[in-house]
Amino acid sequence: MIKVGPAGSGGLGNLKGVQKAAEVGLDCMEVEFTYGVRMNIKTAKAVGALAKKRGVILSVHAPYYINLASDEKEKYDASRIRILDSCEKAHAMGARNVVFHAGFYQKRTAGQTYNLIKKAVSGMQKSIARKGWQVTLCPETTGKPSQFGSLEELLRLRQQTGCGITVDFSHLYARQQGEIDYAKILTKLPKTFHAHFSGIEYGAKGERKHIRTTKTFFEPLARALIKRQANITIINESPKPYEDAIMMKKLIKKLEFEIR
Ligand SMILES: [Zn+2]
Repeated sequence: MIKVGPAGSGGLGNLKGVQKAAEVGLDCMEVEFTYGVRMNIKTAKAVGALAKKRGVILSVHAPYYINLASDEKEKYDASRIRILDSCEKAHAMGARNVVFHAGFYQKRTAGQTYNLIKKAVSGMQKSIARKGWQVTLCPETTGKPSQFGSLEELLRLRQQTGCGITVDFSHLYARQQGEIDYAKILTKLPKTFHAHFSGIEYGAKGERKHIRTTKTFFEPLARALIKRQANITIINESPKPYEDAIMMKKLIKKLEFEIR
């Protein structure tokens, strides 16, 4: 089953956002803590209760300012706290997957960066277990070669720590300069995972920005997902989160009918 939903509420606020997702027939929604975790537990519980009632699966995107490989202790600590705060709210909402961009290589080698991030992820997993939060850390594949988060790095991290993974297919597309074989990527992945997609503008340094998701851009991925019988939640991160998610859902239905 391929479940589709918007990234954020498109400015409606999370309660109305969940309501709208359900009304237009979408399956999931990602709550965005882009610039900080500013939701209290009471609101988180209310959003979670509504989502449960309306059958909308929630996930959470932790703030953007995160670098678990930073050599400045303050930045590292702040990153950790931002992710754990996101986890606390995710647990209160009944959202399982917590998405974040793990960090930057800066002056370190890829190997050193990997080890630092692995250590940070394992440490956070211990805190999560102690608190009894029912959440999974899902670091995301990133869109710039200067950012930690290639598919290979995240698959290795998943294997070694038991964390989850967020596969942002448009980031992989930008990272690989548009050279992408979705079917091949899917064979490396488990059948169940969390995903992102949208149109994307990129240059030599990778991702520039997310743009509208078009049918022609989504179709190759949709076909590969259907053939693989992937069991995923896929969040549309375009500037029109609902409209484009609805398009994606419709296209999947149409192609499923054709392919099966
Ligand atoms: Zn993404």
